[in-house]
Amino acid sequence: MAIDAVIFDWGGTLTPWHDIDLGDIWRGVCASGLDPDRVEAAATALLDAEQELWRRCRDEHRSGTLDEVFALAGVEPTEALLAAKFDAWTPHTYIDPAVPGLLAELRGRGIRVGVLSNTIWSRDWHERIFARDGVLDLLDGAVYSSEIPYTKPHREAFRAALAAVGATDPATAVFVGDRPYDDIHGAKSAGMRGVLVPNSTVPAWDATPPDAVIGGLDELLPHIDRWSGRRGGR
Ligand SMILES: [Mg+2]
Repeated sequence: MAIDAVIFDWGGTLTPWHDIDLGDIWRGVCASGLDPDRVEAAATALLDAEQELWRRCRDEHRSGTLDEVFALAGVEPTEALLAAKFDAWTPHTYIDPAVPGLLAELRGRGIRVGVLSNTIWSRDWHERIFARDGVLDLLDGAVYSSEIPYTKPHREAFRAALAAVGATDPATAVFVGDRPYDDIHGAKSAGMRGVLVPNSTVPAWDATPPDAVIGGLDELLPHIDRWSGRRGGR
C-alpha cells in the first residue's frame, strides 16, 4: 500500500534545532514590555510557569497554552509582551531550506502533508511563521497541541493529526520527527511509520526503533518512494 500522508514535527524537524535559554528569552521580553523594577520577578515567574507546562507535557502528555503561562505567572499578557515574545523567537523559527521543495515533491505524488507540534503557541503564530516562509499553502492540515487536550506521544494527538490531513489509515502514514520518544514512539504506537531526524540534545528512547533514520530532510523522499513501491525508490 502506498504512503498517502506524511506528517511532520515542527521544532527541530521542519525548523532547525537551536539550543535556547528560555530564561534569557523571558528576561528580554519583560525588559521590552514592563517597568524595569518588575522585569526580574516577572521573567522568573514566566520561566517557572513555562517549565511547569513543559513538565506537564513531558510527564502527563497534557497540553498547555501561552495564555496559561501568563496566568500561572500572574503576569498580564499585554500586546507589547506578546509582540516581544514573538519577535524574540523569530531568529529560531525559520524553516529548513529543504522543506518547500520536499513538501511540493510529496504533494506531487498525491501524498497529504501535515504538521503535529507540541507547542504552547497559537495556530495564528504558527501560521504567520509558515506563511512568512512560503509553506502554509503546502500543508493539508496541522494540529497544534495548544488546541487539543493532549501532547505527543499521546495517541489522540496523532489521531487528530491524521484526521486534520484527511488520512484514514495510520498504516499508510509516516511521521517525521526529531524526538525518539514523543515523535517516533508516539507515531509507531498510533500505527504509523516513524522517521527520525536526530539532533544532539533531545533525550534518547531506544525501546521503539524508527523505521528509518535520516541525516536531514533531503534524505526523506527515497524512503517514502521505497515504502510506496515507487520506481526509483531505494
Ligand atoms: Mg521537535
